[in-house]
Amino acid sequence: MKQIPLVDLKAAHAEVADEVRAGFERVLAATAFIGGDEVREFEREYAEFAGVAHCVGVANGTDALELALRAVGVKAGDEVVLPANTFIATAGAVARAGARPVLVDCSPDTLLMDPGAALAAVGAATRAVVPVHLYGQCAAVAELAAALPSGVRIVEDAAQSQGATRAGRTAGSTPTGGSATGSGIAATSFYPGKNLGAYGDAGAVLTDDEELAGLVRALANHGGVAKYRHDVAGFNSRLDGLQAVVLRAKLARLAEGNAARRAAAARYDALLADLVSAGRVVLPVTDEGNVPVWHLYVIRVAGVDRDAVVGKLNAGGIGAGVHYPAPVHLTPAFAHLGHRRGDFPHAEEAADRILSLPLYPQITSEQQQQVVSALADALS
Ligand SMILES: *Cc1c(COP(=O)(O)O)cnc(C)c1O
Repeated sequence: MKQIPLVDLKAAHAEVADEVRAGFERVLAATAFIGGDEVREFEREYAEFAGVAHCVGVANGTDALELALRAVGVKAGDEVVLPANTFIATAGAVARAGARPVLVDCSPDTLLMDPGAALAAVGAATRAVVPVHLYGQCAAVAELAAALPSGVRIVEDAAQSQGATRAGRTAGSTPTGGSATGSGIAATSFYPGKNLGAYGDAGAVLTDDEELAGLVRALANHGGVAKYRHDVAGFNSRLDGLQAVVLRAKLARLAEGNAARRAAAARYDALLADLVSAGRVVLPVTDEGNVPVWHLYVIRVAGVDRDAVVGKLNAGGIGAGVHYPAPVHLTPAFAHLGHRRGDFPHAEEAADRILSLPLYPQITSEQQQQVVSALADALS
């Protein structure tokens, strides 16, 4: 049987191979390895795509989050509210910025951060809230922005949601971070498997605020505001020219790729209908006003050992995955936060039951039929 990967990077590369080679030649000829024209052009193009005034390319998505948090003033002793159901990097960036991660549960349907729980977790030491646009669907950012006390900033984790919209607003383009606290800021990741993936590590910070953008740019370049003028202590997190070439070529096809993902998700919804009525599978739930970009298609299975189902699928050549097998509070790296099983029941239940099916723009309906029939076998 032919293998069906979780993500098909070879098919994605085939579409841009010639353009990428030509671009690499340009960068090599110009020896523009860090920064340079390709990086500047990509930043301009991505800012336009995301509907923000400024995009600052950095080395990866985790750095982008840490830089965004630092830029809005998060420091040691502060608290930052974030969902327990996210990729570990969200919490890692908060910890690296010196703050204490304050975890909250997710909504049981969408599995996105529960905005009510986030608001309830805000206290005197809270400096920021990090909504995560998980699986390619926007979290309730505008609702949070309207309800947060002034002084608490929103830092969006838009790593999985390039091009997703909620009520017409693109992920990563929060107008305000808190009711009276100025522009929001967002971080995204161009890890190869993301909807917009580089050929190595890359990421970006997005904001409408010129001052915040300048601060991020300085922090990411050894704190330099001009060559050899260092007003703040920073670090090194820059985007390189070769990655910018790849990102420009793929950005030109991102909207089309996202539409293909939406079509594939709709096909899965239809193909899974029998398993849903039999009570074996729960489909992903889309929140009102959201147009997701399906970074992942995450179903939940019921009444079975999920890991055994994944094992059977993988043994049959189907690249099913689990995103993620443990919520942040049950991960050893964050045991010091002092949580236990039972603290965030929705995130815990999801972690035990979720399963990601292969999804990428080039997946065919035949491949999806094969996935669903293998899943039906694995569940029977
Ligand atoms: C991928 C990802 C990150 C981290 O991005 P890297 O580029 O791998 O550092 C952060 N948050 C979420 C939700 C992610 O999916």
